Amino acid sequence: MQIKGIARETLDFILQVSKSTYPLEFAGLLQAKDGIITDILILPGTESSEVSATLRLFMMPNISAVGSVHSHPGSVIRPSKADLRLFSKTGSHHIIAGHPYGPGNWKCFNGRGEEISLDVLDVEIEDEELL
Ligand code: ZN
Repeated sequence: MQIKGIARETLDFILQVSKSTYPLEFAGLLQAKDGIITDILILPGTESSEVSATLRLFMMPNISAVGSVHSHPGSVIRPSKADLRLFSKTGSHHIIAGHPYGPGNWKCFNGRGEEISLDVLDVEIEDEELL
């Protein structure tokens, strides 16, 4: 699927959840409709260990995702070795949000861990899709 961007509401949601989860890490899967990322599938029981959170992400079978999202409470927005290993397994778009989770505190990476641009789109989405 060609990804055109992420809905602004969805990005705001990511930053909000990252904030409310801090100092723990939050992780989820990205799902898209018509090429626009509008859904976040949050993992239950996120732990503070980054490796365990991201590992569990990619061990969920039967879920179609265009990529992943997780937060870095340590504020460095760069994929760790564990991130890179897992990025290569699922999806083409991987968002990392870094503390303090402001509007500019996130980056998107491809499956090889290279930074890519992701447009933030003002689109209407139904509230239920975020829950
Ligand atoms: Zn990470």
